[in-house]
Amino acid sequence: MRQFYEHVRVDKETLRFSVTCPICGKREYGMQLPFLCRGIRILARCEKGKANKLSQRIYNQTKANAVQQLAMHFNQCRSCYRFVCDDCYDVADSEGACKECVKKKHEK
Ligand SMILES: [Zn+2]
Ligand SMILES: [Zn+2]
Repeated sequence: MRQFYEHVRVDKETLRFSVTCPICGKREYGMQLPFLCRGIRILARCEKGKANKLSQRIYNQTKANAVQQLAMHFNQCRSCYRFVCDDCYDVADSEGACKECVKKKHEK
């Protein structure tokens, strides 16, 4: 889960936490950035963990919730270890792999 946490970014346009699927490029959005963390400067500090106590605490909490929420839509491939969306994940594969890895397997 720690790894997935690092994939969750703040989308600067919508100000929501989001994750992008590396295969199809689909974006899944989670919670909105808390009001206290908005603004380019404060956001940059929050992302580095260097904001003021209150903003940082709210940021961390919201991000943790967003990660849980977004994790439901993403699956980790056991082969390449990327996090891909439900559409790019092949549940039929015995080990659980993304579609690209399943395709490679069949090509061999
Ligand atoms: Zn996808
Ligand atoms: Zn894969």
